[in-house]
Amino acid sequence: MASETLAGQAPAARSRNRVEIPDRFKWDVLDIFPNWEAWDGAYKELDTGIAQYAQLKGTLGQGPAQLLDAFRRSERLGQLAYRVWYFPSLQYDQDQRDNTINARRQQVQILFAKWKQAESWFSPELLQIPLETVRAWMDREPPLALYRFAIENLYRQQEHVLDEAGEKLMSLSSRLSQAPYDAYAALSTADARFPTITLSDGEEITVSYGQYRAVLATRHNQADREKAFTALHESYKATLNTYAALYNAVCQRDWFQARARGYASTLEAALHGDNIPTSVVENLIETTRAGVGPLRRYHQLRRRALNVPTYQVYDFSIPLVSFDKKYSYHEVLDWIVDAEAPLGPDYQALMRKGFSSHWIDVYENEGKRSGAYSAPVYGVHPYMLLNYTDTLDDVFTTAHEMGHSMHTILSHETQPFIYSDYTIFVAEVPSTLSEALLLEYMLARSTDPTERIVLLQHAIDNITGTFYTQVLFADYELRAHRLAEQDQPITAEILTETYTQLLKDYYGDAVDLNPHTGITWSRIPHFFNSPYYVYQYATCFASAAKIARQIMAGGREAAEARDRFLNLLRAGGSDYPMELLRKAGVDLSQPDTVRAVVDQLDSLVTRLEKELAAR
Ligand SMILES: [Zn+2]
Repeated sequence: MASETLAGQAPAARSRNRVEIPDRFKWDVLDIFPNWEAWDGAYKELDTGIAQYAQLKGTLGQGPAQLLDAFRRSERLGQLAYRVWYFPSLQYDQDQRDNTINARRQQVQILFAKWKQAESWFSPELLQIPLETVRAWMDREPPLALYRFAIENLYRQQEHVLDEAGEKLMSLSSRLSQAPYDAYAALSTADARFPTITLSDGEEITVSYGQYRAVLATRHNQADREKAFTALHESYKATLNTYAALYNAVCQRDWFQARARGYASTLEAALHGDNIPTSVVENLIETTRAGVGPLRRYHQLRRRALNVPTYQVYDFSIPLVSFDKKYSYHEVLDWIVDAEAPLGPDYQALMRKGFSSHWIDVYENEGKRSGAYSAPVYGVHPYMLLNYTDTLDDVFTTAHEMGHSMHTILSHETQPFIYSDYTIFVAEVPSTLSEALLLEYMLARSTDPTERIVLLQHAIDNITGTFYTQVLFADYELRAHRLAEQDQPITAEILTETYTQLLKDYYGDAVDLNPHTGITWSRIPHFFNSPYYVYQYATCFASAAKIARQIMAGGREAAEARDRFLNLLRAGGSDYPMELLRKAGVDLSQPDTVRAVVDQLDSLVTRLEKELAAR
């Protein structure tokens, strides 16, 4: 999520040459391979291993030894693949103008495609063997029992696998399934004509999405923000019926696939992979709808503080106070580590090690990839890409990515390879918690009232953007898909009405609407690209809020909550995400986890009110 926030900002001057940056601010890729010859050797080893793996086809039925052999070989390939991929990939992100490295990166992508093909026989062949037989094998051959969860999960998913003719038909139709998004991408970018507007100071800008975001976040003249908003949405409105036809295709495709595989709904089909019950999304939406009070109170506060004649969605991101404090990198590292004190000294020591061991590529340079990420290089250590420019956002991004890295370290050192990777459903929990702890730490220490306002604003924007907006999105997706499921028409008018009603349900009269607000659905790529995905940001956020509340409560309960949280990180992907979270004290099928976010926002808005009143 951090990278998405950053991507929306105006492009910074990335003019520094990489050689001018001292080595202590760069990651060291030589921890992966000492040189390209070593990488080349590993690449060939992977290539050979893939060919050998393909030879195992037809052997699984022979017995537990053969099944174990297939698992172990696959794990060895998987471990090697991390290093073979990240060695060129990280170097490419250092400077994306380097075509030699890009070619090597693409070479790995081609090999991965070959690998996918070479192992495609495994699941169908395993599933031919009755589960009872495989269970008996696991009892007889103890090393095979390590793979129990992975095996049982495959059989669980088999419930919705069709017979051979059915699967063939599905795979033939799969080539069409990407068409709505491809058309959406072409319509909204390649074929889009972004309008040019003149702002109040005479500056002329082309309203691309990046420029639009920049105007909303920096232009204090409301008329400028309105102009950019109207211009951008006019460009979507010009082809709104086409966007609606494409979105109808998304919903119809999802409903076709769900029915073909015997699911009761599109939501059930989407959640089955991670074994998440549909009640999680329904509960998330219901509890959030009942908890919109603090959201409205926050926007009413903004309306008063900005003192504008009408308060609209284009007024959401303009800062309430001006603030340009710089945060130097070496100074904030201590804060980030100190802030994690509730997680214990061992956790802090690991973090300190991460900050001082050439894991992080800190500053921007010519050609470097934008945004931020943490890359889990199995068998080496996590690598973090930042584009640190001394802003408060950068401080929180650093804490966020470090949360991901800590998850990687604890999971990799505890789990066997097959369970070392964690799903998106839990991934944003440690990163969000890391930010929450840093916020409390900085708020408690700041002696500058303006800084406290900016900190509170940052935390509130995180909740409104990462939580409430994503729930509203999920709510919209669910409603639109239900139209398809109930054989109702899906047109531009109906989608706009649906979206407008949602805005009213969530914001009430705290926000004024205009004729363009309701067509927002047409410009959200996630709706067209990955339906039923964004709700996971909200559930992660809620889980982190619940855990943060327990950890910061102090006393024995806090110590227990901390241990449960660390065990969640150590557990990696060794169980279904709902189970892992339940063990960490979070039950997403119950309203109290979601209410933790509502309560958190409520208390932050109260603090912001006090700070603003004191000015
Ligand atoms: Zn993240």
